[in-house]
Order: sequence, then C-alpha cells, then structure tokens
Amino acid sequence: MNFGLPDILAAREVVCGLADATPFVPSPYMSAQAGHDFLMKLEICQPIGAFKLRGAMNAVMTLPDGVAGVTCCSTGNHGRGVAYAAARRGIRAVICMSELVPQAKVEGIRALGAEVKIVGRSQDDALAESLRLVETEGLVEISPFDDPKVIAGQGTIGLEMIEARPDLHTVLVPLSGGGLAGGVSVAVKAVNPDIRVIGISMDRGAAMQASIAAGHPVEVEEVPSLADSLGGGIGLQNRLSFPLCREKLDEIVLVTEEEIRDAMQVLFYEDRMVAEGASVVGLAAVLADKVRPEGPVGTIITGRNLDMGQFHRIMSGSDISLGDRILKGRVYDA
Ligand SMILES: *Cc1c(COP(=O)(O)O)cnc(C)c1O
Repeated sequence: MNFGLPDILAAREVVCGLADATPFVPSPYMSAQAGHDFLMKLEICQPIGAFKLRGAMNAVMTLPDGVAGVTCCSTGNHGRGVAYAAARRGIRAVICMSELVPQAKVEGIRALGAEVKIVGRSQDDALAESLRLVETEGLVEISPFDDPKVIAGQGTIGLEMIEARPDLHTVLVPLSGGGLAGGVSVAVKAVNPDIRVIGISMDRGAAMQASIAAGHPVEVEEVPSLADSLGGGIGLQNRLSFPLCREKLDEIVLVTEEEIRDAMQVLFYEDRMVAEGASVVGLAAVLADKVRPEGPVGTIITGRNLDMGQFHRIMSGSDISLGDRILKGRVYDA
C-alpha cells in the first residue's frame, strides 16, 4: 500500500500553525474507571470545532498553483473544514447539499465564506452536483476520508498523541469512513508497533465494521444516531481507507445509543466538556466494559458541532427521538 509515515510527516509541515497542537489532557474520572491513565485529545478546540480541519487543510494547501477551487458534498464537519481551508488559501469552495439539510448548517458553512449549492433531495443528488462541478468548472473534489492527503492530515493527531505519551498502550478511535483511524494507526504504529488501535462505531449502521467482516466495501442502512458524524457508507469504490483500516486496526468495538448517551453525560458532568456523540464512543466503550485497558489509554474527542437543544435534553435526562425510535432519558447522578 502506497501510504505511510512520510505522508504524515509531510502533512505535519503543512498543517503546522493552521490545524495542529490541540491539548491532550487526562480525565481523572475516566482514569479511575479504566484503572489506567485515560487521556483525551481535544480536537473540539480546532477553529471549526472538529479534527476534519487537519485533513482538509493538508488537501487544500497542497493543491497546485492556479487551481480553480474545491468542492465536496459534506453537510457536516468535512464541509466546514473544506470551507475554512479554502478561505485560508484564498480559493473558491462550493459545498453541495440537498434540500433536506437544516438551514443552520447551510448558514454555518456560508459564514466560513463558501458558496452553498442546494440540489435535489438526497446526499446522492448533492454528490452528483459536486462531481458535475469537477467536470464543468474544473473544481477539485475533496473526499472526506478516501484521499491520501486527508488521511495524512488526520494522522498528525496520532503523532501528537504518541509524542506526548510514548507509553500509550491503547488508542481508541471513533470510526466512520476510516480516514481518522487509518491515519492515526499508521502514525502511532510507526513509533510503537505494539500499540493497540481500536476503532469504535455505533452498533447500527457501522459501515467499516460490516465491510471488513464481508471482505469488501458494503452498503449499510443509515440509521439516526446520537453519533451522527459516524453515519454513512465508506464508498463501494473505496481505495485507501478500507485497506488501511483492515490492515491496521486491532479490533472494532460497537456501542449502543444508551452507551453513547451515558458517555456524553460523563464527559459533561465529570470533565465539563461539550462534545458530539461521535466524540465519546471511546469513553462509552470503556464505561460499558467493552474495552478493558491494560495500560495508558488515549482517545480523540473528535468534534463539538451538535444541536444544542438536543444536547440540553440529553443532559437534563429527557427522552430523545432518533428517527422513529425514542431513546429514554436518564438523569445523571453526579
Ligand atoms: C468524520 C468524523 C468522525 C469519523 O472520521 P472518519 O475519518 O470518517 O472515520 C468522527 N467524529 C467526528 C466528529 C467526525 O466529524
């Protein structure tokens, strides 16, 4: 496979000063639960509130001079990252979205200086428009996870973690398309080949886990989840993040919506931090005894771009509706 530590070291030079050096802090509460130091890499401190800025910044900054601009169809953290990085470089960004995307998300991306194109009624329609712009306007499409520059950018997180704590025994990585887990695995295993890297997804709609089990990329049904940033497929034509995760991940663990809810409450009430459901799956796996640490553990608090109304309901113990399902509330006993 044509991807390795040199790609990540090169990315570090590019993102230095633009999307790096987030805090890596211990959680006393989680350390007590784990029986070993439990450290959290706070990517919620990035200027867009999520780690995706690293990969987007590396991809955008290394495009050749004279490039017309960039495009993608993410409505979430990748779209924000691409918009921010393009503004930084002073090039055009066109983010394509379907009519179903909430207005607040559209405004958030426009506020970063990107053009927003609203097309069709599905993510597929938005992707088709993005690919059309590649043909007609010469824009470059930036994949959220299946791009070596993006994976290398995310991998810089792993370098920062292992350099700060060379004694890490296990790294718990929130897992969706696998750009983050692929990059972080390559980085930390280059420094310590014995380190364990565990990918963690929600138990319904875990595309990478299903694909590795099947031996090839498969489609999964997308189900509403507190960890919405972990939803979606890995792409049936996946070229890099699938083989990387298959080769490098020691294990994949799945957590339930109840476990994600409980972990969001722990992060808020014990560590006083606000983060998306996708961010806390590492905490959830330890709290639910699905991962039993044998040494210092690190996880990545990947993003904080959530609906504050829903966050408030979770923290106050109210029921939450997830599509046609009701997730029962639980009042936290602090
Ligand atoms: C994208 C994202 C992930 C998962 O990253 P992948 O590279 O797709 O596996 C996790 N958490 C948040 C907040 C994200 O935005």
